[in-house]
Amino acid sequence: MEGLCALCEKHAELQLSHIIPKFIARWIKKTGATGYLRNVENERVQDGIKEPLLCSDCEQQFSRYENYFAKNFFRPLTKYVKFPKQTIPYDENLVKFILSISWRVLYGEIRDIKQSGEELNPNLEETLDSWKKFFMGQNQFDNPGVMILEEPSETIVYKPPKTIPNTHYIIPSYLLEDIPGRFYYKHFREYITRAADATLASDPEKTTQFIFIQLPRFSIVSTINPFVLAGIRSAIITDKGEFHTRFPLGNIDYLVNLVNSRVEAIFHLPLPLSEVEKIKKIISENPERAKESDTFKIKRKNQVLKKRVKKATKKGNRTWGSKKLHRNRKNTFSIG
Ligand SMILES: [Zn+2]
Repeated sequence: MEGLCALCEKHAELQLSHIIPKFIARWIKKTGATGYLRNVENERVQDGIKEPLLCSDCEQQFSRYENYFAKNFFRPLTKYVKFPKQTIPYDENLVKFILSISWRVLYGEIRDIKQSGEELNPNLEETLDSWKKFFMGQNQFDNPGVMILEEPSETIVYKPPKTIPNTHYIIPSYLLEDIPGRFYYKHFREYITRAADATLASDPEKTTQFIFIQLPRFSIVSTINPFVLAGIRSAIITDKGEFHTRFPLGNIDYLVNLVNSRVEAIFHLPLPLSEVEKIKKIISENPERAKESDTFKIKRKNQVLKKRVKKATKKGNRTWGSKKLHRNRKNTFSIG
């Protein structure tokens, strides 16, 4: 299909671009008990969502960043549910990888908001525009130096690099379930270890808005407003630095609430009986594969969370959970 590339705006043959990178879907299938992907409607799918979005040059640019992340972070670390204590040096390819997904997600969200006739916050388009400029090499951004309050009472000034718009974070996902006193929905572990998901997240007043991306084992955030978020300072990814697999988090109730609400929205449909039968059949045909699979490994390790699950279901966790937030569950897939 010919059209305008959404990134460089050149007229070209458009590629079918994945919103969530292809290697993620491939990994979920390969390491699952059945070898199938499932979307949020509980239907089996071959692949993640694809749409004609980018020209082949832009698509290739994005796939270089994807290869970088896959090689240096995703492949070595997804062997573990809880990463070993480790420090991995990174260069600007890491933040480019984050922004390449966040840009695609925000692009789709803005288009969906426009189509739905809802009011569009001008902030979103400004942000999308600056992310596009980042990839087009016009990289001088007027980033504010920001005071960050971390618990218990540590204040630091964060000076972001001028070459990167907004603030971007990668959090090893298991850190989200280590918080004392928090309650979690059933399937929380399954979601953070084996699902792929991406959405615009927002509180009801829209004073806090960010792109949230869940990949197996990695939770990723790109801020829109405010410029930085509380409690996750150690997860900031700049133009170069070191990625730590273990670090303390501050108060991140907003993130746990968001994840709980995604888990609730995504796993709300029971699997049809016919599908359960199919899954049983696939597993019985190749029980060794299922037993050795990542899916079963996660299920076995899920015991610890169980006692905190019931209470969460009772209490509800709806601060971030308005139905509107789940509009683009189409970006979600998981293992069946
Ligand atoms: Zn292009």
